[in-house]
Parts: sequence; structure tokens; C-alpha cells
Amino acid sequence: MSRRPLIAGNWKMNCLKAEGVALAEGIAAKLRAQAPAADLLVCPPATVVDSVARAVAGSRLAVGGQDCHADKSGAHTGDIAAPMLKDLGASYVIVGHSERRADHGESDAVVRAKATAAHAAGLIAIICIGETEVERDGGRTLEVVGGQFEGSLPNGATPDNTVIAYEPVWAIGTGRTPTTPEVAEVHGAIRALAAKRLGTAGSARLRILYGGSMKPSNAKELLALEDVDGGLIGGASLKVDDFWAIAQSC
Ligand code: PEP
Repeated sequence: MSRRPLIAGNWKMNCLKAEGVALAEGIAAKLRAQAPAADLLVCPPATVVDSVARAVAGSRLAVGGQDCHADKSGAHTGDIAAPMLKDLGASYVIVGHSERRADHGESDAVVRAKATAAHAAGLIAIICIGETEVERDGGRTLEVVGGQFEGSLPNGATPDNTVIAYEPVWAIGTGRTPTTPEVAEVHGAIRALAAKRLGTAGSARLRILYGGSMKPSNAKELLALEDVDGGLIGGASLKVDDFWAIAQSC
């Protein structure tokens, strides 16, 4: 089963409007000149989604949000609803990033509700899961990641509306990565769990991204693993050339 890789940039809380538009336009220009063997996505801060989506309209570069609320509207000051992202031209949204889980106390149940809201709005949810360093050192990686997968995946999930991102928390922004056998073990375990929820054929189509200090120098090795179907990239997604080099590694 061949799955088309997804290379997704998580810009986090970076880029004012002009910077974001320039970055996205730089990637879109590369895409116009050459088509890599992957889908490309950028997830700017919510303040810039509109400008970026307008700047790359008509290109093959997709745009996504970094979070959404579980409700579609209402009294939630400062929050952003999934239909609002859709309205701006987003087609994806990241939910359950470890920084949201840590900074905003998001539980698996909250992440599942957000993914459900994303689906209802017609967005593809990128559901993030991953263990902390203490959990890995304690030999609990598969238990923790499996629990997050089970708890965060909504009933309506399909390989078309959902992407999983395995992101070891200790690898995010640290320059450290698990070994390739360690990544392969977790991705294989996630796919086995997915078979129970989505069926064997559904699991075989599900895209499972790796995230955590992916960069041009290690992307090829990570992306070559059988169950790694792309990357969720933070720091290296803020430079056109680095992001493009990762996309070219597919
Ligand atoms: C992330 O924030 O999802 C991420 C993977 O960050 P970085 O690539 O900087 O480790």
C-alpha cells in the first residue's frame, strides 16, 4: 500500500504577516517549479492563516491551523473554531500538539473533541501523540502513545479526515531524535492499533507522520522507514530551503 507522504510545517507562534506570506510564497514558488513526491502543508499562527491562504491560493501548498476549539461557536474568548479556519482557506488543523497538552492542560478527551470538530468543519485533523522523556526512560513509550491514540482518535476518524503525528516530546525543538529502530517500533505499533479502529485496509491508508527535530540532515533516513508517511516539522519549517530539502527527501 503506497501512502502519499505529507510534509507539514508547524510555524508555532512565529511570523508576522509579511514574514509568513514571504515564507509561504517561497515554498509555493518551489512547488510551481517542481513537484515533490509529497503533499506540502504549512500551519501558520491563526493571525496569518488568511494572508497565507490568499498568497498561495491556486498553488499546491495547503494551509492549516495549529489548534481549534471543540465548539463551532460560542462564548470562548480568544479561541478559534474549526469552521473559522475553514472559512479562511485552511484544509487541515493540528490538534493535541504536546505544547497545547502541556500549556493548556489538554487531555485526550479534549483532543478527541477538537478532532471531531475539525471533521465536522470539513478539515483534516492532524492528531499529535508522543511520550515524555521520563515515560520513555521508564519503558512506557508504547503504553503512553497507545493510550493517547485510543483516547484522542474520534469515532468518525478515517484515513481521509485524519493524520497521526508521532512526536516524542523530548525530541521537539531539542535537536535530539529517537533512533530509527525506535521510530519504526512506535509507528508500527500505532498502525497495528489503527487496524483495530479503522480496519486493516483503513490502517494501511492512514498517514502517520514523525515529528521532533526533523531536519534536512536526518529526514531521508526517517522518511525511508516503512510506516513513516511524512513529517511534522517545527523549527526547520521556518526556512524555505530547509523545508524544501525535507520535502525532497521523500
Ligand atoms: C513540532 O513542534 O511539532 C516540532 C516537531 O518541532 P521541531 O521540528 O522544532 O522539533
